[in-house]
Amino acid sequence: MFVSKDLAVNEKGHLTIGGVDTVDLAKEYGTPLYVMDEDYIRQNMALFRDSIDKYYGGNGLVCYASKAFACKEMYRIAKDENIGVDIVSIGELYTAMQVDFPADKICYHGNNKTRREITMALEYGVEKLVVDNLMELDLVNEIAGQLGITAKILLRLTPGIDAHTHDFIKTGKIDSKFGLTIQLGDAMEGVKKAIALPHIQLLGFHCHIGSQILEISPFAHAAEVVLDFIAQVKKECGYELSILNLGGGFGIHYTLEDDPDPYDAYMEQVSRTVKAKTQELGLKLPYIIIEPGRSIVGPAGITLHTVGGIKNIPGYRKYVSVDGGMTDNIRYALYGSKYDFLLANKADQPKDDVVTLAGRCCESGDLLGEGVQLQTAQVGDILCTCATGAYNYTMSSNYNRVCTPGVVFVKGGESRVVIKAQTLEDLVRNDI
Ligand SMILES: *Cc1c(COP(=O)(O)O)cnc(C)c1O
Repeated sequence: MFVSKDLAVNEKGHLTIGGVDTVDLAKEYGTPLYVMDEDYIRQNMALFRDSIDKYYGGNGLVCYASKAFACKEMYRIAKDENIGVDIVSIGELYTAMQVDFPADKICYHGNNKTRREITMALEYGVEKLVVDNLMELDLVNEIAGQLGITAKILLRLTPGIDAHTHDFIKTGKIDSKFGLTIQLGDAMEGVKKAIALPHIQLLGFHCHIGSQILEISPFAHAAEVVLDFIAQVKKECGYELSILNLGGGFGIHYTLEDDPDPYDAYMEQVSRTVKAKTQELGLKLPYIIIEPGRSIVGPAGITLHTVGGIKNIPGYRKYVSVDGGMTDNIRYALYGSKYDFLLANKADQPKDDVVTLAGRCCESGDLLGEGVQLQTAQVGDILCTCATGAYNYTMSSNYNRVCTPGVVFVKGGESRVVIKAQTLEDLVRNDI
């Protein structure tokens, strides 16, 4: 049993992704290599998009959180699937602009956007600038004034919700670098200020309570908290806001221990909660935006490495080293994140060994996992790390001057490069 539904084993005993033999992919493109199943990505986008139609009358938008995995092809696919995107930097904006991504379907986040970024976003016509703090509100107003336009914005709120996930990926509690707190009063101050500023049109609120959240109830709770606040704003300011952006953070299967609630159930429950709550508060039904990132691309990707050195330290542990590591997957080093691993060329064999998987960098913490159940490894075997489609490529680095691996998409039994592997020339391109 695999963590991702597009993985299987063929007659050679090799792992396949989207029907393509991963051992052949490793041979054709070399390792390390990221491989993603395009149909699976599209299905996930459609699942979220259709759930808004099914449970909420289509009164909303899915904005793929592109920090999970961004490149021109991903923005093309999101555009083709008729969903929006969520971006957090000028680099993501620039990439989206390269494929003429519709500006009215871009949410622009970030707790410290620069003048240059805000200007570029407003000039491109981004209609959902998510303003994070009071200083930024002034800056956006000033830039919009200079451009002679009205900036359409959402205000980011911290609803004071503590979702059960890793500390570094929690964002909804009061002590967070993101957003305006409802409890401490700066959210209301932001609303009053936004209403008063001449070049700002406040459309609604955004909140994002964290990531890799496996249950639905914290999301429904966040929706209630923000709706209460919308009612309070209506009462105090006579101004009813129409957009409720509930962020992303839906969890996925990294290992079989994770048990995320199904995504379809998410919109069902959130719609029910929002309908009940708006009725109770006498509000209009808001336009809902959701921002799944990890759940769209995470399960659709794998990473292939080649096994090199194997070192057994009797009484301690066995190290199996691969030709990548923290440079292409920093999540174990950063958060202690667990993954499911297997040897792609021995996928039909039992996992009869327990090893520590080590990367190639000059850093003892450069590990992919410890206490990992794996088939008995030999030099030249192909290691597959499952569910690496999110926050792996986008967090990759050139530490130790290691080249970033390429990304290959598979579809209909064929593979194609969507991001080229870096070359040695690329590494020195910007050196003087
Ligand atoms: C990271 C992020 C997301 C996506 O989170 P996932 O856990 O990948 O779904 C959505 N919205 C905002 C504002 C984010 O920062």
